[in-house]
Amino acid sequence: MKGPKPRPAIDRLLAKAVEEDGCWLVKSGLAPNGYSQVSVGSARKLIGHRVAYEFFISDIPPGLEIDHICLRRNCVNPWHMDPVTHAENMRRQHEALWHGRKTCARGHQLADAGVITKQSGALTVRICAACYRENNRKDRAA
Ligand SMILES: [Zn+2]
Ligand SMILES: [Zn+2]
Repeated sequence: MKGPKPRPAIDRLLAKAVEEDGCWLVKSGLAPNGYSQVSVGSARKLIGHRVAYEFFISDIPPGLEIDHICLRRNCVNPWHMDPVTHAENMRRQHEALWHGRKTCARGHQLADAGVITKQSGALTVRICAACYRENNRKDRAA
């Protein structure tokens, strides 16, 4: 063997992370989707938070993805992660998005307008009722 042994991916990943409110945030070299990544060899890149989870906690069962309970995609603190199915991950993101919301993206008061709940596959989707009516009207006008 020649030269120094390359440092394990986990070491290189953690060397880039900074602690903030309990999160271990990686702020450089992020993937376009905002996830941290760490290169292995010359061509391969691994998703940083999966490397951290598998190092500190356990292997991620096939088919599961990592939900960040801190909602920070670039956090690599494995205790902020929860392996879930894709459907559960989507459901949680949706819940987080609507949690404690008073107005929709267009500024309707949800308490007045109401919220429509629809089932879309495994996902329960909530839509502002005022937006929903407007969208329907546009569909008919088109
Ligand atoms: Zn975190
Ligand atoms: Zn609305």
